[in-house]
Amino acid sequence: MKKEAIITLPNPHLRSKSQRVHIVTDETRQLIKDMTDASLDWEDSRPHEISAALAAVQIDKLERVVIVRSDFDNKDIREFVPLINPEIIKYEGALVSDYEGCLSVSNFYGKVPRHSKIRVKALDPNGHEIRFKAEGFLARVIQHEIDHTNGIVFVDHIHDVKDAFYRLDSKGELQPLDYEKDVEHSILWD
Ligand SMILES: [Zn+2]
Repeated sequence: MKKEAIITLPNPHLRSKSQRVHIVTDETRQLIKDMTDASLDWEDSRPHEISAALAAVQIDKLERVVIVRSDFDNKDIREFVPLINPEIIKYEGALVSDYEGCLSVSNFYGKVPRHSKIRVKALDPNGHEIRFKAEGFLARVIQHEIDHTNGIVFVDHIHDVKDAFYRLDSKGELQPLDYEKDVEHSILWD
């Protein structure tokens, strides 16, 4: 599957709730493969960005399936950990604001507050339950992806925060956006 399968705002499906997976089947595993292929194809077209994770809704499949990169610091490791029906069972730690982007939100980055530690429950691709703790950037990414399964996009957390929006310049550096001019009446809220 290619990057063109990835839907972007203002597609209304990005604000729809995904369905739980009742039984993990070969179809679920094929979905995970399609998501992985689309993520890596997208990354290969972007010099300054990494494809950290993807939710199934982003390839227009409204199922509660997400994939998370196994190593955020090394683009050569092209592996993802699949999480089926992921849930946060406990929020821990302080709220920390940091930069986020999204394959479904072209040209906008934002500084989003997230819990610094979470406990997560999910199914693996064999249908077995897994539980783990996550911290820092991994915790942020998982909160971002679980939001997708609930129809929430990262910009929804910072709708009225005038100094929270950024764009990536051609050198790969984040530059603040003018809220009134570039954000307030943009495609983000259509
Ligand atoms: Zn996203």
